[in-house]
Amino acid sequence: MSVAIVGAGAVGLTAAHDLARAGEDVVVFERGEVGSGSTGRAAGVLYDAYAEDVDARIGRRAIERFRELSGEGDFRFHETPYLWFAHAGDEHRGGAIREQVPRMQHHGIDAALVGRAELVELAPDLETDDVGVAAVARNAGWTDPATYAELLAGKARSAGVEIRTGTEAVLTEGGGSVRVDGESEPFDAVVVTAGAHTARVVGEAGYDLAMKPYRVQALTTEEGAETPMAYDATEGFYLRPDSGGLLVGDGTEEVESDPDGWDREADKSFVESATARVEARFGREVAVDRSWAGLCTATPDGDPLLGWLSEDLYVATGWQGHGFMRAPAIGETIARELRGGSGIGQFDPTRFSGDEAFPIVEGMAL
Ligand SMILES: Cc1cc2nc3c(=O)[nH]c(=O)nc-3n(C[C@H](O)[C@H](O)[C@H](O)COP(=O)(O)OP(=O)(O)OC[C@H]3O[C@@H](n4cnc5c(N)ncnc54)[C@H](O)[C@@H]3O)c2cc1C
Repeated sequence: MSVAIVGAGAVGLTAAHDLARAGEDVVVFERGEVGSGSTGRAAGVLYDAYAEDVDARIGRRAIERFRELSGEGDFRFHETPYLWFAHAGDEHRGGAIREQVPRMQHHGIDAALVGRAELVELAPDLETDDVGVAAVARNAGWTDPATYAELLAGKARSAGVEIRTGTEAVLTEGGGSVRVDGESEPFDAVVVTAGAHTARVVGEAGYDLAMKPYRVQALTTEEGAETPMAYDATEGFYLRPDSGGLLVGDGTEEVESDPDGWDREADKSFVESATARVEARFGREVAVDRSWAGLCTATPDGDPLLGWLSEDLYVATGWQGHGFMRAPAIGETIARELRGGSGIGQFDPTRFSGDEAFPIVEGMAL
């Protein structure tokens, strides 16, 4: 089978690699460089702490593959627990955490509510006096997402994949061919993993997709700390250890972004508020090393759009801020479904007509 994959992010590269390893002929079209979309801007927080069974299964499989790949090339999976908490008095989010944890445990996820003594032991440098309800997931870690993209691109090439960077693909009406510089090339299947551009790309083939890109932000600090990865659900920001420093993320803009026309720089207000939060949590001043913005993709129900749009056009997007951590399992699912295996019914992209009005909800929100 000949397969075109549009987009060399974490999802497209994993799918390309898995398809080629299964013996298929794969060409990846990438308008920029490998990993130059959202993957190269992601925070690399990795966990399987999901309360829905399908999400838990995908999360667990993804972590398993990250762990297997760790040590190949520059890619490292840094084992680090994931802590999430709500402030005392935040009944809504505290209740949500209490309700989620037993559901996660029911799906075999290594998650547990954490009492005060354990919280202090787990995060000795973190100021947690205001925490009301906390939980920890231990099948978790972090990585530099660019190293995953580089590794998978190399492994895909070794398996026979042709990756054409600097090559913008345009779909033909109906979707079975890819047009580059006016020349059409037919494929048995075209898989669109074009991140924030996915709706635009499949739109060229005549399909409407219920997906909206939205902007999020992150920064790194020069100073590090002994800390697990942590998500403050009440204030809506997360942090993780980074090489030598900390990485902090939030700054979600709950409005639709144009996938080309958006500000790549972090907002001054985000940098100030994220820095203030870190300083309050660690009780000391920190200096910002780097800050940036990137795009995530939202859907009406928060679930991905993953599956066939027609007999030869397949789509994979709508990760609601969780696309990188699921990429190893999603890529595997794409490869299996393309080769006639089962997909994930709940993520069927045709469950929406594409013209739905819906609000953008931050992906980590409880
Ligand atoms: C600041 C930030 C922090 C994040 N943190 C996390 C995190 O901690 N954990 C997590 O799981 N997720 C995180 N995410 C989300 C994550 O980045 C995405 O969900 C994930 O990278 C999506 O991967 P992808 O392969 O689907 O898309 P992308 O990585 O965006 O790849 C799509 C590619 O398609 C290419 N493309 C687009 N149109 C065309 C075309 N017409 N022809 C050819 N190529 C095309 C683009 O150039 C791009 O390289 C974060 C995102 C941001 C911005």
